[in-house]
Amino acid sequence: MKVKEQLLTLSPYKPGKPIEEVKREFNLDRVVKLASNENPYGSSALVKEAIAAEIENMALYPDGYAAELRAAVAKHVGVEQDQLIFGNGSDEVIQIICRALLSADTNTVMPTPSFPQYKHNAVIEGAEIREVPLRGGDHDLDAMLRAIDENTTIVWVCSPNNPTGTYVKGDELISFMKQVPKHTLIVMDEAYFEYAADQADYPNTVEFLNEYENLIVLRTFSKAYGLASLRIGYGIANESLLQKIEPAREPFNTSRMAQKAAIVALEDQAFIEECKKKNEEGLQQYYAFCDKNGLNYYPSFTNFVLIDFGRQGDEVFQFLLQRGFIVRSGNALGFPTSVRITVGTKEQNEQIIELLQQFVNQAAAKA
Ligand SMILES: *Cc1c(COP(=O)(O)O)cnc(C)c1O
Repeated sequence: MKVKEQLLTLSPYKPGKPIEEVKREFNLDRVVKLASNENPYGSSALVKEAIAAEIENMALYPDGYAAELRAAVAKHVGVEQDQLIFGNGSDEVIQIICRALLSADTNTVMPTPSFPQYKHNAVIEGAEIREVPLRGGDHDLDAMLRAIDENTTIVWVCSPNNPTGTYVKGDELISFMKQVPKHTLIVMDEAYFEYAADQADYPNTVEFLNEYENLIVLRTFSKAYGLASLRIGYGIANESLLQKIEPAREPFNTSRMAQKAAIVALEDQAFIEECKKKNEEGLQQYYAFCDKNGLNYYPSFTNFVLIDFGRQGDEVFQFLLQRGFIVRSGNALGFPTSVRITVGTKEQNEQIIELLQQFVNQAAAKA
């Protein structure tokens, strides 16, 4: 059998070790996963009820147009209903965009290190990948502009960026967008929007849609809203663009449960505010630890922090794993001497910081 040649260069997504396996392997009763930027407080209490009620309709296909959710999101974001496209997670919106715009005779420009799905999907479509290294944890927008040519159909901006947690400031983004040619789609991935949006210089990207036909903004219910397992995210763009890419979307790509859950989750903004506040306090716990030990980190506008231990990330990862904490090693993220830790509850952060302190002390004693 002959599969697309480019697939042979890709490896399937490797999920971290399941919690149960880690418990068995290291004989632990408690294992905490702070590796995928999930919300440690779960989701709004309203969600459980909404899902329970929807169980009655399990045999019926979902509304492929997601009309009710569409109305709710349009109101929440402040756009028209036909300015939205929904996906099975924003991951799927990324895939839809790639299916619609990339082919072997096109190229796509992206920052690196950044969210791996841009490249993964672009490789599958056979497009040429142009990766532009970050500069000090931020997008090098000038270098990205220089990488764009007449065959560039997509340029990716991940803001705040995963795994650095930094965001592109409003004036820089405007100046960038002005220079991106009209034939190139700017994908603004705002998976961590809720955590960054209060910053005074964080751009109001939805407003830019009035002026830019070649912009799509991606948001998700997986992170701050705590609905990662339900797989629901969306894109915001102009109707003319969405009409063109909609045929690349499967007709029933989001489930009933996910649609209902997202609707009620949106209504509970008090939950989001509470999570944001606790997350900010959690970040401060990590910053205090880093400052005390002279460790470098990027100030984060997300629910994770990338800390440079000056040692192989895998080493820190393994140390924590044996003691019941799963994080992401920077070796897999393009920052080989760092680890990325999802901000947990206050207690989880305290526990992991205590272990990290032991690691730092041991490393210093050996040096
Ligand atoms: C988590 C994440 C996503 C994808 O989230 P979904 O669960 O697919 O909605 C997209 N972009 C970035 C940068 C992320 O970190």
